[in-house]
Amino acid sequence: MSFLDLIFPPRCGGCGRDGVAWCERCAASVQPVPVTTLNGTPLVAAGRFDGPLQAAIHSYKYRPRPALASVLAEPLRRAVAAANLDLAALTYIPLHSLRRRERGFNQAERLAAALAGPLGLPVIGGLSRVRPTPTQVGLSQPERQANMVAAFAWTPSTPPPDRLGLVDDVCTTGATLEAGADAVARAGGSIGAFVVLARAQTLPALAVTSPGQSACP
Ligand SMILES: [Zn+2]
Repeated sequence: MSFLDLIFPPRCGGCGRDGVAWCERCAASVQPVPVTTLNGTPLVAAGRFDGPLQAAIHSYKYRPRPALASVLAEPLRRAVAAANLDLAALTYIPLHSLRRRERGFNQAERLAAALAGPLGLPVIGGLSRVRPTPTQVGLSQPERQANMVAAFAWTPSTPPPDRLGLVDDVCTTGATLEAGADAVARAGGSIGAFVVLARAQTLPALAVTSPGQSACP
């Protein structure tokens, strides 16, 4: 039992049941979703952004619940392994330093760290938020895209490699992931796949296609 478990006794992040960070019933409720693409790049998610997974991601993001990172990473690890991606390393969407300081951790960085070992991939941090962005909640797709333009830069002097897996917790419209991919491309690397815990159903149909299809159902 860790120090944090003493302060925050384990409660299921999905349903609130006492005793475990993520109960079997909630784990069983996460239905695999097919791999889609976001502007031509594969998008792998552990499940849809609803029900217990949505509740757990919310708990995970706003409360210091480190145990949730590893249990939520497991269905995502399975989804990534099943997608047979050829990735060189993982990287993650950063928080602005002010928000990182407030929250004390970056949930996407923690998720990337939890995935790295089981997938046998290194984590290369390099994206920085170069300006604070207002919260995306409540914004339309065009507003989100405008909000995220040039929000990130790859800051290390070593350029990013090709075939990075870009990790984030939720893909809502794809605007954040696309802005991260733009920054990696500007620095000379490329994204091999977007890797997210949950995919919202609000993704624009034209941007998201299943392999071999022209549009999302
Ligand atoms: Zn539960």
